[in-house]
Amino acid sequence: MYDVIVIGMGPAGMNAALYAKRSGLNILILEKNIPGGLINITNKVENYLGTGLLTGKDLVEKMIDHIEKFGIEYKRESVNKILDNDDYKIVITNKGEYKAKALILASGRVPKKGNSEKITRLEGRGVSYCAVCDAPFFKDKIIGIIGGGNSAFDEGLYLADFAKKVYMFIRGNEIKADDIFVEKAKSKNNVEILLNSTVTDLIEEEGKLKAVQINDKDIINIDGLFLYIGYVPSTNYFQNLNITDEAGYVIVNEKMETKVPGIFAAGDIIKKDIYQIITAASDGSIAALSAKKYIKKLDKS
Ligand SMILES: Cc1cc2nc3c(=O)[nH]c(=O)nc-3n(C[C@H](O)[C@H](O)[C@H](O)COP(=O)(O)OP(=O)(O)OC[C@H]3O[C@@H](n4cnc5c(N)ncnc54)[C@H](O)[C@@H]3O)c2cc1C
Repeated sequence: MYDVIVIGMGPAGMNAALYAKRSGLNILILEKNIPGGLINITNKVENYLGTGLLTGKDLVEKMIDHIEKFGIEYKRESVNKILDNDDYKIVITNKGEYKAKALILASGRVPKKGNSEKITRLEGRGVSYCAVCDAPFFKDKIIGIIGGGNSAFDEGLYLADFAKKVYMFIRGNEIKADDIFVEKAKSKNNVEILLNSTVTDLIEEEGKLKAVQINDKDIINIDGLFLYIGYVPSTNYFQNLNITDEAGYVIVNEKMETKVPGIFAAGDIIKKDIYQIITAASDGSIAALSAKKYIKKLDKS
């Protein structure tokens, strides 16, 4: 039996694991994908204190290196279910079953996909959700971006270094992204920000995206369309616990405790205001130290 199992190996899960290990707990991290979480699809990170400006991939490497230096065990397995047996929990994965005294849920959230049949059909044929993954396919081409938040602008700036032209399609008349991103975008002569511009249709030719229609009238020719339209929390595997709000985010208190004793949550999976690497890491540290206190009490009882 482990003391703690951490589910998800993004910044929240890795920092939770580091704090748990350093407090003397016996821990395991389970990650269904490549370690690093959303940082893997982040172009540049310049707001994580102490690391300066570096690529998402470089930051992930540093984090994994740190985890490995502390001998933290991690396995590439997808968690399918969690069972709560009061003083211990069972974690069922695609490969096996594990027991732990406490769990830290740090499985984050995934970018929301477009919900039209056309968008789904054109995924990989012009429609994308990951600039870092797909930008090289759009060298010297025309790209559209849907979304006006930090992710949309950050990735739009990255794409602007490859593309001939980048249109930012923003539904309302306000930009949600931080000024630093907006100013940078405005200073690029191949980026055009179009407010009050809803993409109402996708036009295809020979099975590939060719253009978009804006506000049911104007047609703009583009080769690629990147969507940054929100997120869905990764909570499928613990619906039975009933610890989420109506939008699917886990409700925790300031100690990162859910309403189930011994189950903690951290990072983008929880209901909060700021979804960033540094806040995820911070949540992870709090969750780990709360888990430590919980286990100490459990062991005494
Ligand atoms: C395009 C983009 C750019 C961004 N740029 C920045 C930036 O510059 N600065 C910044 O601070 N933040 C940035 N962010 C936000 C930041 O990446 C997130 O806030 C942060 O990664 C959240 O960390 P997390 O550990 O909570 O979740 P994640 O990073 O999402 O990690 C969760 C992990 O859990 C795993 N997982 C999910 N379900 C399961 C399961 N059932 N079993 C096992 N494992 C599972 C996932 O595979 C994933 O690896 C950006 C986000 C995006 C999308």
